[in-house]
Amino acid sequence: MNIQNYINGSFQNPKSKEWIDNYNPSNGEVYSQIPNSSKADVEDAYNAAASAFKTWSNTTLIDRSRILIKISELLETNLQRFAEAESKDNGKPVSLAKSVDIPRSASNFRFFGNAITQFASESHESVGLNAINYTLRQPIGVVGCISPWNLPLYLFTWKIAPALAAGNCVVAKPSEVTPMTAYLLGEICNEAGLPKGVLNIVHGLGTTAGQAIIEHPNIKAISFTGGTATGAHIAKVAAPMFKKLSLELGGKNPNIIFGDCDYEDMLNTTVRSSFANQGQICLCGSRIFVESSIYDKFKSDFVEKVKQLKVGHPSNSETNIGALVSKPHLEKVKGYINIAKEENGTILCGGNEVVVEGYENGYYLEPTVIEVPTDECRVNQEEIFGPVVTIMPFQTEKKVLQMANKVKYGLSATLWTNNLKRTMRMSNELQAGIVWVNTWMMRDLRTPFGGVKASGVGREGGFEALRFFTEPKNVCIKY
Ligand code: NDP
Repeated sequence: MNIQNYINGSFQNPKSKEWIDNYNPSNGEVYSQIPNSSKADVEDAYNAAASAFKTWSNTTLIDRSRILIKISELLETNLQRFAEAESKDNGKPVSLAKSVDIPRSASNFRFFGNAITQFASESHESVGLNAINYTLRQPIGVVGCISPWNLPLYLFTWKIAPALAAGNCVVAKPSEVTPMTAYLLGEICNEAGLPKGVLNIVHGLGTTAGQAIIEHPNIKAISFTGGTATGAHIAKVAAPMFKKLSLELGGKNPNIIFGDCDYEDMLNTTVRSSFANQGQICLCGSRIFVESSIYDKFKSDFVEKVKQLKVGHPSNSETNIGALVSKPHLEKVKGYINIAKEENGTILCGGNEVVVEGYENGYYLEPTVIEVPTDECRVNQEEIFGPVVTIMPFQTEKKVLQMANKVKYGLSATLWTNNLKRTMRMSNELQAGIVWVNTWMMRDLRTPFGGVKASGVGREGGFEALRFFTEPKNVCIKY
């Protein structure tokens, strides 16, 4: 099957007539081909978006909202089909795509379809000067949205929905390794009545199709989620053109567990925050720090639970851990397990590839827990982005805070304690854009989302996203 670009409301082959193999991670087989799009395809997408902009930006908020909510409803109607496609492309369990990825993608359209109708602008009276200011929030024009492979449709729509709601037209590129649900989204957009050219989806390599988007002089804003190195590259390319940037990048998030927490809840959530989506979520708590008073008990209970996780084919309803996204990624994660051994880490469980009967060429890996001798070792500092967590004990709040903050990243942090004062102190001090206390990955779409340090700049979510996708213009009238 061939995936096609979605440009000006129709499905098109790449101008180069070149295609890239798309693999199914659960069996290692090529199951579709995606366009190897070039600058010429991005130019077509840009032209379609630029032509659609005048009408779309002047479409009433109620009409824009109605279309976005219709897209949301159609995603819900097509839940099973989208969940199966996401799983086949990414290797995640179908059950996870069905309960999280696709429903949250639908929520993105519903939320921003509603939020735009509540997005108020400001006015300020300059008292004593006989003047009044009002601030317009105008759409930027054509914007670029580039997303990664780990939560393909969820993160793709997390950008596209607010961009469209705010009145922009979009040129978007999903990850080359997980293009399928973005492709299917084009059909849904047509069915929902999204005018042609408002959303354009170009498939292909980051270094060609992605690069053409970030280099385009008239694509004035880029919303990017992906690796820190790619984010730095985008910032460099965009800076001379003064593009507006939102960069959501990598993470190496601490999960800090104190002895006074609700133990069972913490234990079950920690298994999930370590290994959900094969550990391929930027928010996974990949560094676990446990207060020494409960360290031995936690270590044995945690390892016991992790050993019970079932690695298997993504369509098997009993599977907890599906396949990793690609062969190179599997090799990268295995490489880190070897580094851990060289650094005197102890593999408490896992560490090996798994052969799933009938799918012998799939990219399966055991969930792996590594006890590390120091927080400074590479596996504790570098983003692995797979089913691998480190654990180590700590003695004091001061010391764990120091270790938690001593990485280049600052995306999220999780804290398990029932001590209110400690919660307040630590939440203030943790260097992260998001702090979860006694929970993990609970999301309210109204809240700001993003990281500090090498985890990115800018915030998405709620009105923050609508602010990013609009330019404020102040009008001052003297009377
Ligand atoms: P990459 O940075 O490799 O790729 C992300 C996207 O950027 C892909 O669509 C990619 O295309 C594209 N891209 C690559 N090079 C360029 C370029 N020169 N110009 C424009 N676009 C380009 O990240 P991954 O896909 O490997 O995703 C994993 C990373 O994403 C992890 O570091 C993870 O932490 C991070 N992430 C961050 C999140 C957050 O919210 N902070 C959430 C989820 C993931 P292609 O696929 O073709 O290479």
